[in-house]
Amino acid sequence: MFICCNTKPKQDKSQKNTSTTAYSDVESIKQSKCEEQIHKEPVQDTANKQLIMELNQKDKKLQEIQNIVNRIKLYREEGKLNLSIDIEKSFVTSLIEEDIPTLYFVEYKWAVNYTTFLERRIQEVPKKINNTKLLTEDNTQKELIIIKSQKDSQLLPGLQPDKHYVLLNERSWTFIHLLYGGGPKIIIDLEKPVTSPDIINDGQTNVTSNTANTTKLSIEPLIDIAKLEYNNLDDSDKSPNTNTTRRPYPQKTNIIKIEPKPYELPYVGLQNPKYYCYMNSALQCLLSIRELNDSLLKQQKQSNKKFTMAYQDLLRLVQSSIPGSAISVEKLQNMCLNKFKYSQQQDAHEFLLYLLSEIQQELVGKNKYQKEEFQNALEAWDVYKTRNPDIITDLFAGQIASKSHCLKCKEISEGFDPILDLNLPLSKYYIPREFKLQDCLQNYFKEEQINDAWKCDKCQFINKSVLRKIQITQTPKYLILHLKRFTQFPKSQKITDEVTYPEILDIKQFCAENVEYTKYTLKGVISHMGQLNGGHYVAYAQRQNTWYHFDDNIVTKDKNNKHLSDKGAYIIFYEQL
Ligand SMILES: [Zn+2]
Repeated sequence: MFICCNTKPKQDKSQKNTSTTAYSDVESIKQSKCEEQIHKEPVQDTANKQLIMELNQKDKKLQEIQNIVNRIKLYREEGKLNLSIDIEKSFVTSLIEEDIPTLYFVEYKWAVNYTTFLERRIQEVPKKINNTKLLTEDNTQKELIIIKSQKDSQLLPGLQPDKHYVLLNERSWTFIHLLYGGGPKIIIDLEKPVTSPDIINDGQTNVTSNTANTTKLSIEPLIDIAKLEYNNLDDSDKSPNTNTTRRPYPQKTNIIKIEPKPYELPYVGLQNPKYYCYMNSALQCLLSIRELNDSLLKQQKQSNKKFTMAYQDLLRLVQSSIPGSAISVEKLQNMCLNKFKYSQQQDAHEFLLYLLSEIQQELVGKNKYQKEEFQNALEAWDVYKTRNPDIITDLFAGQIASKSHCLKCKEISEGFDPILDLNLPLSKYYIPREFKLQDCLQNYFKEEQINDAWKCDKCQFINKSVLRKIQITQTPKYLILHLKRFTQFPKSQKITDEVTYPEILDIKQFCAENVEYTKYTLKGVISHMGQLNGGHYVAYAQRQNTWYHFDDNIVTKDKNNKHLSDKGAYIIFYEQL
């Protein structure tokens, strides 16, 4: 800092007058000004960042809603009704399950018809939302109706929930309204509640928590959740005497919801009885991925989900361990015995992908991806995502499109494949001296002549070789890059050269033009030391924003930022910015 804290007394005072009323005079005298400075600035900074992140998230979410609406409309125009319903159903279900206040009216018959449509019991696409049936005659022409209570004079008298209307949250309404149009928008005004939401006289108001816990994956919640909410309203109707002491709406939180902070694990070592460093290093990187921890901790106990449950047990064990201690991973080790013999060193990359795909399969059933014809990359992606609604797909899956040029008709054929990682060859043939991660990517994505026979779909000509170019068409939230240090051909060996990698990686040049999020920040590194038959794996990963070096049972802070330039880097994890 260039400014000595004594030169900023004015700012200190004004801050105190406006925002820090909680500080008593006695306390502030106890604290030196310097301390105060140190205390306050980061807090304000974090609050600002938090707010900006929340607003960004809201923007991103609205953008996502708009994108999905556009795609659904497009698929309907193209006659792909089933695909459009798959996407709509899973998306609207996720919106309804969001724990934000339900303040938007939808006429009941429309809602029932909509649910029936999503369940495919009727074929006809729903018409415009028609809320005019809920309004008194002089209000039906308006676009927006703001009501202060259920007895608002703009509403028809005697309306009952689950009979005349359902309530939706803001995002569900936005989605449905964008897609189907109609109106008017009828919204309960949160700012001026007619009754005091804080006075509760009968303990029945737990309804709100029921709402948050509803995790059904069918479209039923549209009706079910709404039921819970208006039962609450309904009660107040039946007993007018208690009207003033009941909540007029289920939740009184702000519309911009603060996302719960994902749980962060303490840094804990993993014991290694023999040759298990390949497993430990991979696990330590996965354990730094908070969304994965959160999701797998929430999984219901089920005996047929062996790997998911073993990972959940591991998470609970780490959660309850003292930082710096080391725990046993025996359960997972034993489960992998069939695949990975314990008498020899194994490949961390093979284990990582094995574990991820086992969990993925347990969560969605057998991998349902099969080669099909798709019009474009987005359609292929939509189909893949709706068939794989699991956390592994959500966090790690991306998509690659490969274009093949026919020599005869010059047409370009496109194929699309989901990916969980990228396997980058380290061939000295292409990069003679220094290995840079970006060069490895360049090499991987360059146009390539493949000497396999290939039949052109358009002209049926059998090409003896084909020019193929690949591009990323969907970027994953977490990008796993595997540097192929171990080669079998022409001889078994390990390429030991250093590969440098950046802290911030932009993969824009390897992506299709319309791909939006291409920037990543370093998240974890698995490093291999030594030679092919022997050697040792370690990992660098974060816990609570601090980088650690994980060497089996020994965990140390990465004080010198070695995670940025480890010479043996073998698998690199990046997180999307
Ligand atoms: Zn052709």
